[in-house]
Amino acid sequence: MSEVNPVDRGCGERGPVEGLHVRGVALPSEEAVEFWIKDGTLTREPVPGAVTAVDGGWLLPGLVDAHTHPGAERPGDSLDAALLRRHGREYLSAGVTLLRVPGSAERLPAWFGAEPDQPRVVSAGRWLALPGMFYEGWARHVGEAELADAAVEEALASGGWCKVYADWVVDEQGLDAPSLSVDRLAELTRRVHAVGGRVAVHAQTAEGARAAVEAAVDSLEHGLGLDVALLERMAGQNTALVPTFTVWATFEEVARSSRSNRFRQWFHAAHARLGPLVSAAYEAGVTVLAGTDSYGTAALPHGKVAGEVRHLAASPIPPEAAIGAASWIARSFLGFQGLEQDAPADLVAYDRDPRTDLSILDIPARVIHRGRIVR
Ligand SMILES: [Zn+2]
Repeated sequence: MSEVNPVDRGCGERGPVEGLHVRGVALPSEEAVEFWIKDGTLTREPVPGAVTAVDGGWLLPGLVDAHTHPGAERPGDSLDAALLRRHGREYLSAGVTLLRVPGSAERLPAWFGAEPDQPRVVSAGRWLALPGMFYEGWARHVGEAELADAAVEEALASGGWCKVYADWVVDEQGLDAPSLSVDRLAELTRRVHAVGGRVAVHAQTAEGARAAVEAAVDSLEHGLGLDVALLERMAGQNTALVPTFTVWATFEEVARSSRSNRFRQWFHAAHARLGPLVSAAYEAGVTVLAGTDSYGTAALPHGKVAGEVRHLAASPIPPEAAIGAASWIARSFLGFQGLEQDAPADLVAYDRDPRTDLSILDIPARVIHRGRIVR
């Protein structure tokens, strides 16, 4: 990576850093823009001696996977630092410069999200679940009475988010298990907001999704059973929806091999209504974000948020909204700038307009991260 990086070259005997220069049509503004990059930051002020890294094509703020779990290969595995680093690089090389990791086996190490060859990371501490929910040995399991304290602790430790399970359905039993109560979840959300944190909630069932919306959490993950009547409320209180089509596509196989008719029927019906649900959410003004829910299995490799964009577009929602869900909309929701003066120089360039050809998202012509050429 470094041998093609003019910024690095500038740190050597050639004297001061020269910087980079990019130009193209920016999204979402559609303006022809020209930026220089100095000290990892975008500027409209020309930098003498800057090397042109992008000359034409389409410029997007760095891509985002808003729901992913790098650093392990199988449910139950502890966090593996070498894998975490490899997954981070896979994201960067695909143009994904920002990850939100809603839950991990252990709290993520500080270097992840900070080192030059790693994406920026918004984490959420350890998964929080009631006993019986989520994979045994992977979450921090706590009783309902202790959940709010634990959520505050994880949000403070992560510097932002916490992640809580409102329900858990991977087999027939999950369909009968009670979801987290609205009162508990609302109390937890108030407590986490009071310390400046945000709350991501896993919900697959109608009851779990209702609890999340009525508790006014910040993001609803999955939302398979979400009642469309709640969408307006979600839009009004800015609860984002992260439908994670990518993981559900892999569940088709899981459901097919299930011996439970009831689970199979539930999953197929829930999966089939996810597209129309996301369309309706978009129409209602809900913030829809792209998240793959990759957790490292062979079926869910890291770096593939472009596939989630295509799923979103197929819901259908407009291609621009689907791309924004993995770029400027997700960045703004997570508190990161787009392509503007003094913003961090995290961007991705394409030879063609991705809105008219979503397949181009797989082959970025250029990826710049923290002001350095990654690809
Ligand atoms: Zn997840």
